Amino acid sequence: MIDPFGRTISYLRVSVTDRCDFRCTYCMAEDMTFLPKRDLLSLEELDRLCTVFIEKGVRKLRLTGGEPLVRKNIMHLIRELSRHLRSGALEELTLTTNGSQLARFADELADSGVRRINVSLDTLDPEKFRAITRWGNLGKVLEGINAAQAAGLKIKINAVALKGFNDGEIPNLMRWAHGRGMDLTVIETMPMGEIEADRTEQYLPLSLLRARLEQQFTLDDIPYKTGGPARYVEVRETGGRLGFITPMTHNFCESCNRVRLTCTGTLYMCLGQEDAADLRAPLRASEGNELVSVAIDEAIGRKPKGHDFIIDRRTSRPAVSRHMSVTGG
Ligand code: SAM
Ligand code: SF4
Repeated sequence: MIDPFGRTISYLRVSVTDRCDFRCTYCMAEDMTFLPKRDLLSLEELDRLCTVFIEKGVRKLRLTGGEPLVRKNIMHLIRELSRHLRSGALEELTLTTNGSQLARFADELADSGVRRINVSLDTLDPEKFRAITRWGNLGKVLEGINAAQAAGLKIKINAVALKGFNDGEIPNLMRWAHGRGMDLTVIETMPMGEIEADRTEQYLPLSLLRARLEQQFTLDDIPYKTGGPARYVEVRETGGRLGFITPMTHNFCESCNRVRLTCTGTLYMCLGQEDAADLRAPLRASEGNELVSVAIDEAIGRKPKGHDFIIDRRTSRPAVSRHMSVTGG
């Protein structure tokens, strides 16, 4: 699959549910309305769609959400998809999780061929953790991280940088992650979906964070890549890697290799644009995969050049109306 700008699409992110057991303040409103269950693709349909993408050249598949591990019978889907790892068609099957259910699933994930996972964690302070996630329990997440490491999974920690909330804590979070052999990636907040908080208040440009870190640490730029948009440095003092994902201050769209599928079968060609293609109708219209394959080709043919997120200071409207939990972060 090659888009109009010559970019090869080899990475599919699948939001398997828009539901979550947390309500992170930058991601969701407290009283979120979720998609009606009848609109969801079944696990079999998700498997079928992913398989079509793999046949068309997807080499890396990431399950996300919402919280992927709260979808009922998610391990069934993961086990089924792992056949593509064994056949060599898929290079990597991975997920992004809030870690709340990891203690329960770590061994099974490792047995299914999952090698690396991303765990989102913004603070190591139990009270702040509760405040930012509204419903989360830090102890359970740390337990999950222990279980995942014991099962042999490699972990990358993702933290959203929030002004006045965790910016002062990033050095600590980094020492902790690096001390346990985990990379840390910091992410700028993106204006997606209505939330209660004011995004201009939360937004912290990572250029500023980096300058502050450089007062304490020596950051060496390195060419390390994981197939994602992060730019990495190696921190001399800790020997660990730190990634920066800067959708707001630096445009990384030139090398974009991904598309995103929602749990209702909608394909978004760009996280920061509204254009989407419905794959559920062609999927359900026939038992063969011809129709859906054509619909995917048409969609890839419309992949936009890039996003143009801005946090509008005059209105509180988000740049993209859907929440991150729908498209999958
Ligand atoms: N529930 C899982 C988790 O938290 O890892 C997977 C889905 S979550 C939407 C994926 C990532 O998106 C998380 O790392 C989260 O911090 C990030 N995220 C959510 N809303 C965001 C926003 N408005 N701007 C930037 N990152 C956001
Ligand atoms: Fe749930 Fe992840 Fe969104 Fe937090 S960031 S509310 S854990 S989907």
